[in-house]
Amino acid sequence: MKVLRTVAELRRWSRATRSATGSAIGANRIGLVPTMGALHSGHASLIRAAHEACSHVAVSLFVNPTQFGPYEDYARYPRSFEADCALAEFEGVDVLFAPAVEELYPNGPESTFAEVPGLSNRLDGASRPGHFRGVATVVAKLLIAAEPDLAFFGQKDAAQVAILRRMVADLRLATGIVVCPIVRDADGLALSSRNAYLSPAERAQALTLSRAIRHVESLAAQGERSSETLLAAAHEVFAAEPAVRIDFIALVDWSTLLPVETAAPGTLFAVAAYVGSTRLIDNTVLS
Ligand code: AMP
Repeated sequence: MKVLRTVAELRRWSRATRSATGSAIGANRIGLVPTMGALHSGHASLIRAAHEACSHVAVSLFVNPTQFGPYEDYARYPRSFEADCALAEFEGVDVLFAPAVEELYPNGPESTFAEVPGLSNRLDGASRPGHFRGVATVVAKLLIAAEPDLAFFGQKDAAQVAILRRMVADLRLATGIVVCPIVRDADGLALSSRNAYLSPAERAQALTLSRAIRHVESLAAQGERSSETLLAAAHEVFAAEPAVRIDFIALVDWSTLLPVETAAPGTLFAVAAYVGSTRLIDNTVLS
């Protein structure tokens, strides 16, 4: 596994890989898995999906400062470069791209940015102003640098998926976006690098999110379609665990992130909540 630190090296690798002699034309497909590191089985599932669809897999590892608000956890976000290298190596990753902040933001605060209007202010964007501008900007930089055929993202960050799909469509980027299912612990908690912040008591409280998800899934499976009813049912689940503070509970169209009155197949049910000072998210796409 190569560890690359600069955009120029990543671009050189990508172009050389794609045009490598000895392979059939079109046989070399590059998959990119963007991450902020602190890799876990959720990230590993994206890497495996990338291997299934692509001959070569790059993982980026970059704690992106522009997607954190001034009072958020950028400074204390878990960083575990050695363990991340070991996981990536074990998963057969070809390239680990781990740039310094100055490499991706050469002009500091005056850098050019990418912004998806409308969608960026909905769901997580409503409570984290500027977050999705940071996400769109860094992913645009990564897609332009690596020129992957496919980029892999987790449904875990469902609003992020909607925003990146829109950005790729609007900018006419050549990369396909692949969305992978949420990986959970045995008790239902969605894996997240931020779960490392939870005390044992908070870890138990955090199960409220997946409990609400399962409850809404089962009501929808029984035929309940009214958003009002489904959202009220989710609020009841949270009411049983007052230590967990709701940020939002929403039923939205996954492509616009706008609320729906009636749930339908493909409707996104998403929750965000604070457990202690840790903000957690979870969701399901109704079938
Ligand atoms: P992060 O490092 O948290 O920015 O996540 C990098 C990628 O991994 C994003 O596309 C996430 O949606 C995805 N991801 C994070 N947690 C999970 C999970 N539990 N299951 C599947 N994908 C995940």
